Amino acid sequence: MDFTIAPQVISKIKQLISENQSFTITTHHNSDGDAMGSSTAIAEVLRQMGKTANIVLPNDYPAFFRWMNGAKEIINYERKPKESQAIFNATDVIICLDFNQLNRIDGLEQIVGQSPKAKIVVDHHLGLNIEADAIVSFPDASSTCELVYHMLQACGYGQYINRNVAESLYTGIVTDTGRLDYASSYSDIYMVVGNLVEKGIRKFFIHDNIYNVYTYNRMRLQAAVLHENMCFLPEFHTAYITINQKNKKQYDFQLGDSEGFVNIPMVIKDVKFCALFTEYENGTVKVSLRSKGKFPANKFAEDYFAGGGHFNAAGGKYIGSLADAVQTFVNGVHTYKELLQ
Ligand code: 5GP
Ligand code: MN
Repeated sequence: MDFTIAPQVISKIKQLISENQSFTITTHHNSDGDAMGSSTAIAEVLRQMGKTANIVLPNDYPAFFRWMNGAKEIINYERKPKESQAIFNATDVIICLDFNQLNRIDGLEQIVGQSPKAKIVVDHHLGLNIEADAIVSFPDASSTCELVYHMLQACGYGQYINRNVAESLYTGIVTDTGRLDYASSYSDIYMVVGNLVEKGIRKFFIHDNIYNVYTYNRMRLQAAVLHENMCFLPEFHTAYITINQKNKKQYDFQLGDSEGFVNIPMVIKDVKFCALFTEYENGTVKVSLRSKGKFPANKFAEDYFAGGGHFNAAGGKYIGSLADAVQTFVNGVHTYKELLQ
């Protein structure tokens, strides 16, 4: 896998960093480990250089990322819209990480889209559609964190990859690959992980803080939705799970509680396609899709749920009832029958 960034892109990034003082980093709503890792890693590098670096997220991040270096200083736009706007107004450069379209940053879409400030984008999704002064985009990369690692090295900023930066980058790589399960079948990623391990990362501490932090309610939610709400369509090699409002109330649903649920049915023999539907109070349903092999989850998300994503991991939204979202999915699965044989 070759993630060599064009020399003119590297020069531009170095120029924007050396000639400016204030940087604002943002990433997609419902931040995951890659979004959190890439943001906190770049913020830490910039701070070591004596720059001002703020991270402004569209909404809150899950509590199990609170241990990350610099996470406590992150500003949540939903909670502090005025302060967030002021930060974007005052900044010299905006850094967009781990998203390919401005609608992925929800309420920040207008602010970032209309800002005249210089922009740097680093992302690993297909179909990148954001205007910027420097763009690092490799859809074959495991994670934005892996690309941030290559970018820092190519810029000659390797000395700033201290243990904190390495832990942030490792978090993104390990969470976006399901602990090096998918999207990681190339040797280069292990070189990067090896280099991060050499920086002294607390590997067990990281895993313990991200994965071994479930509440009792979260486990009971998992048991309930698997037992009561999982459907298997063997003739289509497809399975799906729903989480309704009643489940959420009963088990005191917290942000991040359903992280990983979508992958669970993948362990059923011969399942190639999985979905998770999460019902929200505002009449929308969040749809998460995962596939194995040659089934295009991103195309399916585009066709039926106004979404997109990676070939094997995508998502979108449905405006309407949970039952209708599921029906739309099942109809789609029938349409895609040939690819699901
Ligand atoms: P998840 O299912 O973990 O929320 O999202 C998996 C992947 O699907 C994300 O990395 C992102 O690429 C994509 N994705 C999720 N939701 C949306 C959405 O609403 N719109 C688009 N375009 N992509 C999404
Ligand atoms: Mn990512």
